[in-house]
Amino acid sequence: MNKSEILQADKNYFMNVFGERFPVVIEKGEGVYLYDNEGNEYLDFVAGIAVNALGYNYPEFTEGIKEQVEKVLHASNLYYFEIQAKLSKILIENSCADKVFYSNSGAEANEGAIKLAKKYFKEKGKDRWEIITAKKSFHGRTLTTVAATGQPKYQKPYQPIPGGFVHVEYNNLEAVREAITDNTAAIMVEPIQGEGGVHPADKGYLKGLREICDREGILLIFDEIQTGIGRTGSLFAYQEYGVEPDILSLAKALGNGMPIGAFLAKDEVAKAFNPGDHGSTFGGNPLACQAAYLTLKIILENNLLEDVKEMSTYMQKRLVELKDKYSFIKELRGMGLILGLELEVEGIDIVKKALGEGLLVLTAGKKVLRFLPPLIINKDNVDKAIKILDKVFAEI
Ligand SMILES: *Cc1c(COP(=O)(O)O)cnc(C)c1O
Repeated sequence: MNKSEILQADKNYFMNVFGERFPVVIEKGEGVYLYDNEGNEYLDFVAGIAVNALGYNYPEFTEGIKEQVEKVLHASNLYYFEIQAKLSKILIENSCADKVFYSNSGAEANEGAIKLAKKYFKEKGKDRWEIITAKKSFHGRTLTTVAATGQPKYQKPYQPIPGGFVHVEYNNLEAVREAITDNTAAIMVEPIQGEGGVHPADKGYLKGLREICDREGILLIFDEIQTGIGRTGSLFAYQEYGVEPDILSLAKALGNGMPIGAFLAKDEVAKAFNPGDHGSTFGGNPLACQAAYLTLKIILENNLLEDVKEMSTYMQKRLVELKDKYSFIKELRGMGLILGLELEVEGIDIVKKALGEGLLVLTAGKKVLRFLPPLIINKDNVDKAIKILDKVFAEI
């Protein structure tokens, strides 16, 4: 099919939830570049929305996926798999958690995290089931994670939605203290709000939440679906803050493009799950596990976290230069390679213009330009992106 046939088929057959997508048909990727079916090249600072940590066609990753495809794709969690065991080991050895469960997506990881928090108190015979989450948060698109998400626009079309969620202002400890009741089971937050506009937690906020949870005997859940797997320059954002959650959810970059999510927990919490309490047909299948195992192994063995820190410093420096040059740029926020520019103009116009110049970036809300490049970018990639942004900004 040519481009117009593909766009027409999408219009005819695909549910119209994405509206008009960007008019590009992606054909392949290599390194930090994507290519469309008309031969155009795009420097990719979206990375599949924080998914493609290793960019495209990373040789060791591609090779390992091929090997697994030839062995077995799926055979059910009725049985054991060496690759699942290896993934669990590397995840647990490199995190603050003791146990893991695999899902197929971020929303499903959060569903599991929420179920575990509720079950933890059921096991203790306590009537605690309410979860406090933040306004402007994003936790997924299933009914329960939509209810958890602190953005009314995602909830409105589906009322009535599951209850049991209370939304409070982010980075405001007093608001959390006021929201706690005898029924509160957990506080769930993103260490950096991604979709909500690249808002990092204040240093003291996560520490404060930890203290509140310890004092009240409730659980702290970090949704690290966007911030996890090296994005911040540490394997997990909680390490940057020096605050450990009781439950941690992951997805996006975990499989470097293979759909896999996970929720991890401390033993004390994880043991609330008994046989039959939770499950998944696809979750943790051998191909997804191979992808996640290779992603973690490559990030850790090649010291990619160091590179992320270095590239973050460089990219922030270059973005500040743009901020100083263009008065419509209000603020630079973020950490590692999750960076956002708060603008006084609509971000989408800039995203469209940048696309035309061969650079993929995205928005977070209406007026934040968000950058989520692969973790393997180098200085030349950053310079090229800045040059394109400079050109696009000059036209605003
Ligand atoms: C993307 C995202 C989700 C949802 O993940 P899906 O894989 O789309 O279900 C949940 N939480 C955060 C913080 C995310 O960024």
